[in-house]
Amino acid sequence: MDLTGLRRDEVADVERLVSVLSYRGGRLHLGDHPADELLREYGSPAIVFVADRIRDNVRAIHDAFAAQFSTTRTFFAAKSCYLPAVLSTVIGEGAGLEIMSALEVRLAARAGCSAGEIVSNGVARTPEYLEVITPGMALVVVDNEDDLLNVARRGEELGAPIRVGLRVSPPAANVSRYIGRSAKLGADWESGRFSALVQTAQRLPGCRLVGMHAHQLTHANDLGVYRATVRGVAEVAAVLRRDLGVEFEVIDVGGGFDSRFLLARRGLDAADFAAIAADELSRVDYDFELWIEPGRFVAADAGVGLTRATGDKRGPAGAFRYVDLGSNVLIPLPDVAYHPLPVQLPPPDARWATYDVGDATCAPSVLCRSALLPEGPEGRELAVLNCGAYTSVFAHPWAFALPRLLFLDGGRIDELVGPREHAEVLRLLYGLDAQLTPAGAPGAAAREASA
Ligand SMILES: *Cc1c(COP(=O)(O)O)cnc(C)c1O
Repeated sequence: MDLTGLRRDEVADVERLVSVLSYRGGRLHLGDHPADELLREYGSPAIVFVADRIRDNVRAIHDAFAAQFSTTRTFFAAKSCYLPAVLSTVIGEGAGLEIMSALEVRLAARAGCSAGEIVSNGVARTPEYLEVITPGMALVVVDNEDDLLNVARRGEELGAPIRVGLRVSPPAANVSRYIGRSAKLGADWESGRFSALVQTAQRLPGCRLVGMHAHQLTHANDLGVYRATVRGVAEVAAVLRRDLGVEFEVIDVGGGFDSRFLLARRGLDAADFAAIAADELSRVDYDFELWIEPGRFVAADAGVGLTRATGDKRGPAGAFRYVDLGSNVLIPLPDVAYHPLPVQLPPPDARWATYDVGDATCAPSVLCRSALLPEGPEGRELAVLNCGAYTSVFAHPWAFALPRLLFLDGGRIDELVGPREHAEVLRLLYGLDAQLTPAGAPGAAAREASA
């Protein structure tokens, strides 16, 4: 269902899926800004990050878990969106940051995040990454002995123990690519690796064993899978308590929730996941703090693409509509679609048809299959949902212009990244000189004229 476009009723009632989007008099609005005006003013393509949706998403997921657990902390997975305006908006809502590299530690500091609000993840930390690990960090998560020894050595050097979390690959067979004996992430439970790591951590003076960590899923939109995963985490905690007397101050169940609007399409919200987590973790019969690390849930539907069609092709199986928002920023993933909807609704009697929508690169990818769009001119200026997470962080300049990145906060619009920055990237990566770079990308002239 999720790889195909929105139904007509979902388009008309888009506010039900993404609270900051609405049709007013047939014109799509992002907050109070008509999308067609944004397109005219800034040009196509663009991705607009809507601050109010980021805030609402942080609150929705945090409050859902806080309603179930005595203490809940939320750490936004910074890798899902690096834009400083997004990070500081999340921090402004009281969330911390989940980071996984030295670069991300610096991003967090720049965004105003204190060490006590950082969960440091990562396997096989580099010397550069170890150097920025501090005893003040909320949690420093490791999943193997080498990294644990390195982190503990850092604690000894600094004369204060590092607050360590251990990442488990719990007993929940076949529910996720992150679980299992050969998983890249997490220490295997069933073979005894995780228990051994716990015992090593307990005797190292440079670290203090604070938490257990289990980020296991991605795009979780199936409550049964979520339950099986958290059940595995609860079982590990219960057995470690029984056999080794270990009580964790923190159980961090990670992120992995699907985009909020895709969950809403299925009639799910964060409260459904929180209730399952509470139910399963009720087996752990001591007090602990429950931490979560959502990325996609917070950022995905807060980023809305704006794009124009550049052409159509009719084929035996239907029509293909080419747009100028590309796979150079909306990375093709087998289980992700970027859902287009018209910036302007056509008259009620207009015909709609299904299109596969994608860019004009040779990459064998589409943004969305079977998107229902107006056949007339209204089907050629589109807003695209699901553009906020794992998009700009993966952007790669080739073939066509990257989108402008705009940040919309109430009445204010900031251009975070525009043609000038894109030109700079092309210069740095490919040595292209200024005359060859697309500073005159679509829309730039119009903007300069209106400035
Ligand atoms: C990527 C990541 C997250 C966030 O995942 P989402 O699917 O975006 O919620 C959380 N924790 C860790 C350790 C991660 O690597």
